[in-house]
Amino acid sequence: MVKKARETLPTWSEMKLENRIEIMKKLVLLLEQNKPLLAKTIHEEVGKPFRKAEIEVEDSIKETKFFLENVPIALKEAVLKEKDVLCFEPIGVVTAITPWNFPLEMLVVSVIPALLAGNTVLLKPSEHSTLVAIEFFNLLEQLEGLPKNTIQLIVGGKETGKALVEQDIDLVYFTGSLRAGKQIMRDSAEKLHKIILELGGKDPSIVLKDADLETTAKGIVKGATSNTGQVCCSIERVYIQKEIFESLTQKIVEEAKKVSIDHGDNKNADIGPLIRAFQLKTVQEHIKDAEQKGAHILTGGKRLEGKGYFFPPTVITNITEEMLVLKEETFGPVIPLIPFETIEEVIQKANDSKYGLTASIWTKDQKKAREIARKIVTGTVVINDWGGYKMGCPWGGAKQSGIGRGNHIEGIRALTNQKHLAL
Ligand code: NAD
Repeated sequence: MVKKARETLPTWSEMKLENRIEIMKKLVLLLEQNKPLLAKTIHEEVGKPFRKAEIEVEDSIKETKFFLENVPIALKEAVLKEKDVLCFEPIGVVTAITPWNFPLEMLVVSVIPALLAGNTVLLKPSEHSTLVAIEFFNLLEQLEGLPKNTIQLIVGGKETGKALVEQDIDLVYFTGSLRAGKQIMRDSAEKLHKIILELGGKDPSIVLKDADLETTAKGIVKGATSNTGQVCCSIERVYIQKEIFESLTQKIVEEAKKVSIDHGDNKNADIGPLIRAFQLKTVQEHIKDAEQKGAHILTGGKRLEGKGYFFPPTVITNITEEMLVLKEETFGPVIPLIPFETIEEVIQKANDSKYGLTASIWTKDQKKAREIARKIVTGTVVINDWGGYKMGCPWGGAKQSGIGRGNHIEGIRALTNQKHLAL
């Protein structure tokens, strides 16, 4: 596979950028035409409610367009000095390893910029979303003019991913867990592969006493339960200033109870099941550990009866620092609420994590929010909302949430060899 990727590299990488763009442009149309099929496959394979699956396809189309429009800007030679130029050349063979939680979008954001930048790609999708990857790969195969083996699909589990990382490749673009990210970094050291790591989070939300209770409660429940909490930038810890702790807690519980669950009969529902038994096990372990250490479950807390790994939004209080739910990524619809008194205290608590993907701050005071935002060590801070994943804006983690930034001009450049030409 690597041999074929290398053999194809000169044909693809030496093609003019406008020709590569012309070939890849047709993918937008193919994604649009195949939206019903892709959404159905996402819905059936990872359990996302059908409308949410459609939104993922729509977002993937927007992301493809973003890369098509921005790759000429990203790869344009930069004049550094009168006789010094910076060129952005293909880096070579890129291995893209992706997770299941956004089974199409994660393929698009790693594969499309890597191809447009002139690289050949070995794609290893999650073993839990292989069918979506096959549908996507089938579309790429329909692109007229795309040389055979420019992209190759390799299906399998973590052993397959590990074997790929150990090959003679040039860059690993990995999106997934911290555990796997560390292993990939170790395995990449041998041949000093370049690496981009987009990893997990334990994202804090900070609510100041002047925040609007209604919109904050709605926003926090959405941020903690979207995709059944299986989002890298899910809100995983909520710090509430003590003056409003009781009143906001009550509203968060009310909102959590309103979240609708799709059992296969409600295509517009808010959430579906957890992906598989392993994810249910993690959520249950975190809740059990919290209960044993004195936490109070205000709503949810138990798997729903019947088939499937359905888990309701769960609000918990009386949280202490040694609980797993405050330390490790839960990746489920669990909302731990923690009171705080002073701004200094909450900044210290929010930063007390090995992770640093995103954080959110809820307040009417923009100035204070910005002051706090500057002191939070994460890749993104959002004010009066959550997540912050936007095309054109750098995406990535501080601390152990990752290495590198994607989704913007620099993200495309990270998939190139930046060569200084001294004329
Ligand atoms: P995972 O790490 O278990 O698996 C991700 C991918 O890596 C899969 O394709 C898997 O087969 C492969 N893999 C696992 N171990 C490997 C190894 N040692 N070597 C090579 N490949 C290996 O993660 P997951 O359960 O699929 O996804 C959930 C995780 O992904 C969460 O931690 C989530 O926060 C993170 N995530 C991060 C982002 C981001 O942008 N930062 C986006 C989506 C998901």
